[in-house]
Amino acid sequence: MQDLVVIGGGVWGTSAALTAARAGFGKIMLLEKNAYVGGESSGKSGGIISQLIAHPDDQRLVARSREWLFEAEAESGDHSMIQRWGGLVLCSEAESRKLMEVAETLRARDIPFALWDRAAIAEHYPLIDGAEPGTFGIFSPTDLHVNPTAYCQSVFSAARAAGVDARVGVAVTDLHLEADRVVLETSAGRIEAARVLIAAGTWTRKLTKMAGIDIPYRPYRVQIASIAFSESGRLPILSETSTDMYITPDGPTNLLAGDGTQLWEHDPDDYNQQGDAAFEEDIAAGLMRLISAARHAELRRSWAGLCGGTPDRRPLVGAVSERLFIACGDNGFGVVRGPALGELACRIAMGEETAPGLDPFRFPPGDFVLRPGSGGMFPE
Ligand SMILES: Cc1cc2nc3c(=O)[nH]c(=O)nc-3n(C[C@H](O)[C@H](O)[C@H](O)COP(=O)(O)OP(=O)(O)OC[C@H]3O[C@@H](n4cnc5c(N)ncnc54)[C@H](O)[C@@H]3O)c2cc1C
Repeated sequence: MQDLVVIGGGVWGTSAALTAARAGFGKIMLLEKNAYVGGESSGKSGGIISQLIAHPDDQRLVARSREWLFEAEAESGDHSMIQRWGGLVLCSEAESRKLMEVAETLRARDIPFALWDRAAIAEHYPLIDGAEPGTFGIFSPTDLHVNPTAYCQSVFSAARAAGVDARVGVAVTDLHLEADRVVLETSAGRIEAARVLIAAGTWTRKLTKMAGIDIPYRPYRVQIASIAFSESGRLPILSETSTDMYITPDGPTNLLAGDGTQLWEHDPDDYNQQGDAAFEEDIAAGLMRLISAARHAELRRSWAGLCGGTPDRRPLVGAVSERLFIACGDNGFGVVRGPALGELACRIAMGEETAPGLDPFRFPPGDFVLRPGSGGMFPE
C-alpha cells in the first residue's frame, strides 16, 4: 500500500510530490494521465509571476513559489525556464493610488519598484507609445515569466530522483474510500493508498465526485495568443487594469497576450481548446493600441485553457475526508502561487500543517455563480 498518492502532474501536483519525498513520507506515488507532465492548465498558461499582490497570504505564497522556481531552474540547468523581464502594471491615476498602497508593501518586502507617469513609461519602454494620457505605471523589475512545463518536468525528475514512483500515462478512472485506505482504479490497475491528494486542476471535482464528495468548484475558460514580434525583448511583462489584458515577452521574438476570460462553467473533457476569432481580433487590437510597432507582429496561434473558480476566488486546499485531500481553485493565478500551494497541500495531507482559511468546505459544496476579480491577489 502507498503512504501517499498525488494525482496530477501540473505545477501543484509535482511540487506536492517532491515535498512528500523530501519529508521522507514513506512510499509516494505521482500519477499523471497524459504521457507528459505540465501539459494542461500549467502548460497553457501565460507563466506570469507578478509580485504586485494585495493579499498578505498570497504575498507569502508567491515569495515561496519563487524560491521553488529558482531552485528548479538551478537544478535543471535549464536557463530558459525563467525569463527576467520585469513587470509593468498600467493603470489610471485613480487606480494608481490604490495600487500604490500595495506597492508600499513591496517596499516592506524589500522588493524594488518604481512609479512612472506616462512620460517615464515612454522613456523606459519607447515601444509602449499608446498609453492614454493620465496613465501611470508601477514597475517591478524583479517580476518573472516562467515556462511552467519546464518547471513541472524539472520537479517531476527531482521527485523521481528522491524516490517518488512518478508515472505518466496513468489515469485515475475511479476512486472510493474504505475505512483504512483509499482505493484507486487506474489505467494501470488498482492502487491502494493510506492518503490521496488530488491536485488534478480542473478535473479535481470530477475525481472527488467519484468518491461521493462534492466541492464548491467550477472550471471556466481563458484564452491566450502567441504572437511573433521581433521586438518583444524590448518590452516588460505588461498588464492593464482597465482591460485586464496582459502581454508578456516569451523569448526575444515572441509575445504571449491574453484576456478573454469566460466566466461560465466548462467541462475539462469537452471544451473548445482553440482561441475564438473574436478573441484574436480583440487581442490584436489591444496590442496595437498600446504598442503601435505591433502592427508588424503576426499571430502564430491562440488557444484556450481552463482555470478553477471558487465562490470567493481563493484556493481550496485541505481535507475533504479523513484520507482524501484536495488542492485546486487557482482562479487564474495558479502558476504564481502553485509551487507553494502544492507544498502546503502536501504538508496538510502529511498532518504537518493546517490552513483553515483555505478549507474546501468553507462554502457549501455544489454550484455557485462564477464572479470576476482576483480573489484579493490584486487590488480590486
Ligand atoms: C490561458 C491561461 C493563462 C494563464 N496564465 C497564468 C499566468 O500568467 N500566471 C499564473 O499564475 N497562472 C496562470 N494561469 C493559471 C494556471 O495555468 C493554473 O492555475 C495552474 O496551471 C494550475 O496548475 P495545476 O497543477 O493545478 O493544474 P494542471 O496544470 O491542469 O494539472 C493537473 C494535472 O492533473 C492531471 N489529471 C487530471 N485528471 C487526472 C486523472 N484522472 N488521473 C491522472 N491525472 C489527472 C491533468 O492531466 C493535469 O496534468 C493561466 C491559465 C490559463 C488557462
